[in-house]
Amino acid sequence: MYSNPLHTKISYLKGVGPARAELLQKELGIRTLGDLSNFFPNRYIDRTQFYKISELQDTKVEVQIVGKITALHTVDQKRGSRLVAIFSDETGRIELIWFRGAKWIKTNLKLQTLYVIFGKVNRFNNVFSMPHPEMELLTDYNKSLQTALQPVYPSTETLIKRSVSNRAVQKIMQQLFLTYRGAFKETLSDEIIQKQHLISKNDALFQVHFPESQDLLLKAQKRLKFEELFFVQLQLLRNNLIRKTKIKGYVFEKVGDFFNDFYKNYLPFSLTDAQKRVLREIRKDLGSNAQMNRLLQGDVGSGKTIVAVLSALIALDNGYQVAIMAPTEILAIQHFNAISKLLSEMSIEIRLLTGSSKTKERREIHEGLESGKLHILIGTHALIEDKVKFKNLGLVVIDEQHRFGVAQRARMWKKNDLPPHILVMTATPIPRTLAMSVYGDLDISIIDELPPGRKEIKTALRFDKNRLAVFQFMKEEIAKGRQIYVVYPLIEESDAFEYKDLKDGYESITREFPRPQYQVSIVHGKMKPKDKEYEMQQFVAGKTQILVATTVIEVGVDVANASVMIIESAEKFGLSQLHQLRGRVGRGSDQSYCILMASHKLTNDAKTRLNTMVETTDGFKIAEVDLRLRGPGNLMGTQQSGVLNLKIADIIRDSDVLKMARYAAQDLLSEDPNLEFPNNKNILNTYLEIERRTGAWANIS
Ligand code: ADP
Ligand code: MG
Repeated sequence: MYSNPLHTKISYLKGVGPARAELLQKELGIRTLGDLSNFFPNRYIDRTQFYKISELQDTKVEVQIVGKITALHTVDQKRGSRLVAIFSDETGRIELIWFRGAKWIKTNLKLQTLYVIFGKVNRFNNVFSMPHPEMELLTDYNKSLQTALQPVYPSTETLIKRSVSNRAVQKIMQQLFLTYRGAFKETLSDEIIQKQHLISKNDALFQVHFPESQDLLLKAQKRLKFEELFFVQLQLLRNNLIRKTKIKGYVFEKVGDFFNDFYKNYLPFSLTDAQKRVLREIRKDLGSNAQMNRLLQGDVGSGKTIVAVLSALIALDNGYQVAIMAPTEILAIQHFNAISKLLSEMSIEIRLLTGSSKTKERREIHEGLESGKLHILIGTHALIEDKVKFKNLGLVVIDEQHRFGVAQRARMWKKNDLPPHILVMTATPIPRTLAMSVYGDLDISIIDELPPGRKEIKTALRFDKNRLAVFQFMKEEIAKGRQIYVVYPLIEESDAFEYKDLKDGYESITREFPRPQYQVSIVHGKMKPKDKEYEMQQFVAGKTQILVATTVIEVGVDVANASVMIIESAEKFGLSQLHQLRGRVGRGSDQSYCILMASHKLTNDAKTRLNTMVETTDGFKIAEVDLRLRGPGNLMGTQQSGVLNLKIADIIRDSDVLKMARYAAQDLLSEDPNLEFPNNKNILNTYLEIERRTGAWANIS
């Protein structure tokens, strides 16, 4: 796959001229014969079976038919025209339709000549049609190599327009394997091949392009997926090893008075088993001489803050300072309030630093940090400004990491000689399989248990026609003394249209919930931070019963008395966002509710999202669905990892192979961390080749 001898340019292959070579490179990134061999089909179709037109029933299935074009005409429409051909066999006729490329097709199609056509059929008013069929003259079809499983390669608009059809790609592949079958270098060791029951690289490549049977195809795919995932894992795990040996960290030797005093006297509840386990993991890191780089995952409300506080106390016990960063000012303030309260009986200096901190305050903070008088600094991005200098920063806690880039983390490292330990906390649940492949070079702790006594949030899907009932329900909850969030989607702050939705919604709510009986707050991105803060605080303090807001409240806001979350236009939110929003309620011991207001016209994906929310509150299950719907590209962190560039493996579908690959890579590195053994030579070569290609190591050493 990687250490391929075939660095030869594809233009040297018979049948691929310079023009086509350029097109293939531009459209598909195929430059060399090696690239070509790694251009995998995305599916296979059974082309041994032919249909008669009279047998067509089901729509949306792919069929293959032999017949002739008897007529061709253009239909003009408002938006462009389409080309329609009447295609018949001895049993009936269907329409072939082209919306694009009509000109080329019109001049090249032969009427009254036998063609093999292939594609999906639709039915409209009892007439079958096939848009953009694959077509080949029957005479050509009969000349070419036919296997039961025909590969279908990924394509692009441009390729289709320039008539590089699937058939054309197949022919190029045929040419490649006619010349080079058996010339591809093995990339794995004999040991791994045997242990994992894999077929050879050469066989796998041939079978994936020209499968001789379903069984051989599966074996080929397994082999190639394993290899791909294995090398990603190898890279991640080696990075981690290198980091641990190269990047030294402060050794927090002891757990002292701060920690013990707090634990014995001020801990407001007993820790869950999951919190205890995670804390042990963190303590182990802090006590070793390598820098900690740990991701703490825990669903909303799972109690990450206390873990951060206890970790901070260990740093304090060892004479170090702590920085805690939050993504927004509101959150920073909340952390500051919550943590100050927890530690109020102890002599610990805690300060808050945000964009709106006054000059005088800043000066005091800067002085306190440099003298070491200040123990814990909580804040926003303001913490990483150059002027902020710690005397001895030992631990950085970052809440909600998707708002912070790796680059920003790196900036904090430079502030003193040794980098501080880093604890990143996130409530965005990442399925384990993904975490494994994305964060192979981060250590991961998971709080997989909620504090006791939480009631499951009841979630319902409602529509506009239910609005009066929803208002009634809100009134009942308010009468019980509860508070309510009403959230509107506002993805872009400049989105005037949705902003109007929010304003209209606010007006209708103030009409329905008039003063002085009811008080309503509103918070959105267009307000001045000071006003936002004021409105927010009114709600936090229980002075308003309803908070109408955009997604600014998405992350971390903690109002235990709020028990109802109403999400307007819920279909416009992504699953993880919905989950985050719902996590704002259910924080106290009261029964909480989440009402998803949706419009009637829902896409299938939107239906899946909303139903998933109704069915489960398990963040990991929700994340799995989200991943399935959106693919890994939209999840945080994936951009930095190799996951997005996978050519054949799929981290969701192939999670078993992923596990095997990870274990195999772990085993290998524990025996031969530098890949020096002669029997690992294939692996080393492939590894070096990847390194050469991606330049990945440049970042590390
Ligand atoms: P998150 O993980 O979302 O940041 P928090 O740390 O804000 O969660 O905790 C949510 C709520 O649960 C807080 O009010 C906190 O005091 C409470 N809590 C945390 N751990 C426990 C526990 N072990 N037992 C009872 N309540 C807890
Ligand atoms: Mg939190």
